[in-house]
Amino acid sequence: MNLAIGSMFFIFGLVIGSFLNVCIYRIPINKSVVYPPSSCPSCGNRIKWYDNIPVISYILLGGKCRYCKTKISFIYPSIELLTAILTVAIYIKFGLTYQTIAFLVFTYALIVGSFIDLKYYIIPDRISLGLIVVGLSLSYFLPVGIKGSFIGAISGFVILYATAVLGQLLFKKEAMGGGDIKLLSGIGAFIGLKGVLFTLFFSSFLGSIIGILLIIFGKKDLTSKLPFGPYLSLAAICYLFFGNWLIKVLYGV
Ligand SMILES: [Zn+2]
Repeated sequence: MNLAIGSMFFIFGLVIGSFLNVCIYRIPINKSVVYPPSSCPSCGNRIKWYDNIPVISYILLGGKCRYCKTKISFIYPSIELLTAILTVAIYIKFGLTYQTIAFLVFTYALIVGSFIDLKYYIIPDRISLGLIVVGLSLSYFLPVGIKGSFIGAISGFVILYATAVLGQLLFKKEAMGGGDIKLLSGIGAFIGLKGVLFTLFFSSFLGSIIGILLIIFGKKDLTSKLPFGPYLSLAAICYLFFGNWLIKVLYGV
């Protein structure tokens, strides 16, 4: 890794992370993500550029609005940092290539989709269908290629759709939302059939572990609704970085 270029990717990631925060906040309420500029949700004062510097402003302001002193959620700087770290990680893994651009778009969409799903239990079509369209369009540059991308998108849809139908028959309740089905299809468009299978198994594995922990620590009970999008996203991002290694360790193939 070139340190200077790596630092540039980090700063770029922080700035994008700040924009992703705006997307997470505005997409579910159908507001434009570019206009108007951000303002404090409590007092409505416009946030000045010097109070909108990723992570740094949050620290300088002590996590409070400059005007009304309302607490600003630590989720905002966390998403900025997370985005920056993943941006650098993708640069390290894929270098200065078209793949890096494609997987950055992929990761950014998954971050936005996951945090919206955590908050509202929905994955907007703009994210899931957007991923399908962008994944297929960029497939020429992806490791899976054009054919692999189509197969991935179709298999992601079919496998989760079948699971949903089966779940409905067996348990007489909705096991899988339509948003999850479209999201896995979008994931498949980027990482292909092998990626879809990995994402499906690994997200269920992560979901069970985290679900059990949440029940043990009394945050949720067995009847709680848990969004599945964040697990699918986390598993898909794990596949990008350690997929082949994890498949060997977990499944021995
Ligand atoms: Zn305020």
